[in-house]
Amino acid sequence: MNYFTYSLCALACIPHAAAAEIEISDFAENVVTHVLLHELAHAIFRELDVPILSNEEAQADAFATFYVTQYLKDEAPDIILARANSWLFEDSEVSPQDYDHKGEHPLDVRRAYQTLCLFYGADPAEYSGYVDFAGFSERDLAECSDTAPDQFAAWTGIVEDLQQQGGRASIEVIYGEGPMASAFMETGLLEKVAEIAATLPWENGGITLHFDHCDRGAFWSRTQRTILLCDDYVARFIEQGAAL
Ligand SMILES: [Zn+2]
Repeated sequence: MNYFTYSLCALACIPHAAAAEIEISDFAENVVTHVLLHELAHAIFRELDVPILSNEEAQADAFATFYVTQYLKDEAPDIILARANSWLFEDSEVSPQDYDHKGEHPLDVRRAYQTLCLFYGADPAEYSGYVDFAGFSERDLAECSDTAPDQFAAWTGIVEDLQQQGGRASIEVIYGEGPMASAFMETGLLEKVAEIAATLPWENGGITLHFDHCDRGAFWSRTQRTILLCDDYVARFIEQGAAL
C-alpha cells in the first residue's frame, strides 16, 4: 500500500549536467535528517495536539533526538554527531557578543550540547565514546543519564498513542526544480520522513513535504500544512561537512 503520493516537477526529474555535479555528502544527509524530524515535530505539536510545555524549538530538537535514538538506532551516532557539529560550526562563526539571547531558538551551542546530552542519556554504555569530544563533566553526564529516560518515556507514550490511532491521510512529497533536485531526490530523505508521518493520525488531511530551490532554510508552514526544505540549507551543510 502506498502511504504517500508524489507530485514531481517534470524538470526536476530530468538529470542535467549541473545536478550531476552536486553530491549530497553523508554529513549533510545526516544533518538534514535531524532537521526534517525537527520540522515534523512542529507539525505534530500543532496538528496533533501534543502539549507544548516549554520552548517549542527545544522541544522539537528533543523529539528529533528521541526519534533518532529510538527508531533509527543504527544511524543515531552519525546523525546526532553531524547535527551537533553543524551547530558548533555555526556557533564558531558568531562572536559571543553577537549572540541572540532574545529569539525563540536556543543558542546553537546550547542546542548542540543539549542534543549530545540527550543522545548520551539514551544509552550511556553504547554512546559514551561518541560524546567524549564534547568535554562533559561526570556530573553533566550523570544528569543526562537521569533526565533522558524520563523524557523518552514521555515521548514514547505520545508517539505510540498517536501511532495506535493509525495513519489517516496521504503524505505528499514534492520536488521543485533546481540544480540540487535530482541529487536530493536520490537520498530518499523526504520519502523516509513521509513514511514516518504516514503512521500518524493527521486530522485535517495529510501534510506535504516539499524540497525546492529557495533560500529560506527549513520550516513548518501551518497555513500550508507543509514542511519546506530549501536547497540553500542543504548546500550550507555540504559546505560545513567539507570544512570540518
Ligand atoms: Zn523549529
